[in-house]
Amino acid sequence: MSEGLVTVSYIGAIILFVLTLGGLSHQETARKGNVYGMIGMTIAVLATVFGPEVTSNIHLIIIAMLIGGSIGITLAKKVTMTQMPELVAILHSLVGLAAVLVGYVNFMDESISFPTHAEKVIHEVEIYIGVLIGAVTFSGSVVAFGKLSGLIGGSPLILPARHWLNLGLLILSIWIGYAFVQQAETGGAMTYLMIMTAIALLFGIHMVMAIGGADMPVVVSMLNSYSGWAASATGFMLSNDLLIVVGALVGSSGAILSYIMCRAMNRNFISVIAGGFGTDTGAVTGGTVEDQGEVVPVETDEVANLLQNAKEVMIIPGYGMAVAQAQHTVNEITKTLRNKNVNVRFGIHPVAGRMPGHMNVLLAEAKVPYDIVFEMDEINNDFPSTDVSIIVGANDIVNPSAQEDPNSPIAGMPVLECWKGTTTIVLKRSMATGYAGIQNPLFFKENTRMYFGDAKESLDAVLKELQ
Ligand code: NDP
Repeated sequence: MSEGLVTVSYIGAIILFVLTLGGLSHQETARKGNVYGMIGMTIAVLATVFGPEVTSNIHLIIIAMLIGGSIGITLAKKVTMTQMPELVAILHSLVGLAAVLVGYVNFMDESISFPTHAEKVIHEVEIYIGVLIGAVTFSGSVVAFGKLSGLIGGSPLILPARHWLNLGLLILSIWIGYAFVQQAETGGAMTYLMIMTAIALLFGIHMVMAIGGADMPVVVSMLNSYSGWAASATGFMLSNDLLIVVGALVGSSGAILSYIMCRAMNRNFISVIAGGFGTDTGAVTGGTVEDQGEVVPVETDEVANLLQNAKEVMIIPGYGMAVAQAQHTVNEITKTLRNKNVNVRFGIHPVAGRMPGHMNVLLAEAKVPYDIVFEMDEINNDFPSTDVSIIVGANDIVNPSAQEDPNSPIAGMPVLECWKGTTTIVLKRSMATGYAGIQNPLFFKENTRMYFGDAKESLDAVLKELQ
């Protein structure tokens, strides 16, 4: 493939990636956005592999792609929707690892020559920064994978003087970077590169370990952003314009997503990074079950009656809907109720589930009409006129202690104010806490009814009753 054709392909791929991001910003166009992304990536890979830069061993690249592709397809088929956040985290770690490996190979490659000293120094700085971002992304993403999959506890690791420790590591990295560029003239720079890599790996581990369970949504989007910058840095090292642009697109969109998630949780980005928010996953804090009084359990017929006698119903899905895979039954119930002239709407909290847009994806998969699905800000004032709110496996996102208890670990986080409606029905299996590990006073309110059981089985029974 000629250089001209490669450039044209790269421009085409970049346009497709921009269209991808545009498509992904709305549910209606998300599927199309994904298709643009797949076509763009296919063009990008083909143009790179068959471009003039690859002069030998093309068969090895193809074998590696076949092996990697097969692993990817197998994983994608096996992974359930509830494991998606872990998969995303581990994939981010691969981007980071790739940046580190490319950095080392680039540094050891003696065939690269530079016309001027300044260009050589710039290249060394690119390598240093690329390896630094890559190593932080790699180790941070591995820890995030551990936390999201439950292999590592969700409570924040608070080391004494941790901010000073971070600042010290940053200053040390800058100083080592200076020494690295100096030593590159005389040899021996490899040692500095390796020391910095070790520091960056430790920094990544420490950064994510210090972040508590409730802040994990921001961590996922933040690592997404880091992986973009790592890819961009790799693009600079390889002088690959496409990688630079695509990395910057991923990096900046991840940063914007982090900002949106922080705003949704009423958190300051710097304090999220500084860590310490959130408590142990699953631990009961902020009041025990006995402290808060009795809950009122209900049976299937009562739930069905409440729903069909209502005029306004709000469905609030949470992580439990994903676990139970109840979205299709939810859609069937929605259709049945709408046929009975009940106005059914969905309220989606920005951090519901375990990844940004988790609930929207599930509802879209079940073919719930987009025009009855609303973001929290759009419907939070409508609860006083709602007859029945049905909470399908949600917990933290409907916890009133975020507003009522200044000592709560989620104090200040905006939540869906379902308790302001006439009746709230909560579907969950037990009195266990949600991701943030805190008890929920909603369950003990006078107008709340607890409908215990697996959300899919419970809703299947309600659907039967409604029909
Ligand atoms: P929560 O984790 O707060 O609560 C989920 C509830 O679902 C649990 O209380 C559980 O109770 C119930 N549940 C689990 N399985 C089932 C089932 N099969 N049937 C019925 N109920 C079930 O989820 P939310 O969506 O309310 O809140 C999301 C939380 O996750 C927030 O704390 C958020 O910060 C965090 N988070 C979000 C991320 C994101 O990007 N969206 C990423 C990482 C974390 P029980 O066991 O009793 O059934």
